[in-house]
Amino acid sequence: MDDLVWATRESRATAFSVEADLLAELVQGQHPKILYIGCSDSRIMPSRILGARPGEVFTLRNIANIVPPATAHDQTVAAVLTYAVQHLHVAHIVVCGHSLCGGIQALGAAHARLELALKHWLVYARPATDRVPLTLEGENRLEALIEANVLVQVEHLRSYTFIAQAEAARDLQIHAWVYDFRCGQVRVYDPASGAFVTEPPF
Ligand SMILES: [Zn+2]
Repeated sequence: MDDLVWATRESRATAFSVEADLLAELVQGQHPKILYIGCSDSRIMPSRILGARPGEVFTLRNIANIVPPATAHDQTVAAVLTYAVQHLHVAHIVVCGHSLCGGIQALGAAHARLELALKHWLVYARPATDRVPLTLEGENRLEALIEANVLVQVEHLRSYTFIAQAEAARDLQIHAWVYDFRCGQVRVYDPASGAFVTEPPF
């Protein structure tokens, strides 16, 4: 425990002094433009992906960056979506999968051995398995499942009436990404080509 508390002191000594003015401003309230929906995986740091500072990104994280459909009545997810879209009026929702996602790996052969809570949760990602050709194997199959899952979760997002309405009114843009933590690269879904494309180089 002491080590954990010590880590917070180090953080205060560095980041907090640098951002003192910004933090004083944020006392007035938050106005993030982005809702980031990502996996709980410890290798992923949303603010690092987005180059974001405090106050810029509202966040929802869970195993395999899942959004249960509205019909599932998941109150935790519904509350975050409602607050972000209807109260904070975020302009963007980013659903971000990531390379080597353990949650998506668990959709494969080991699914039968999963603990019940995980098995129930991953039901919302299972449609991804129907969208990936059986001919794909190994990491290629995993990456394809990760991409397919992001698109499944985007469809689930649109099952919430207020999200579909905000998108139709052009108040909200929904983005489907996959982040490779090994190199920091983001693949972005391009609706025109129906594929995930690598971001252009700087
Ligand atoms: Zn993951």
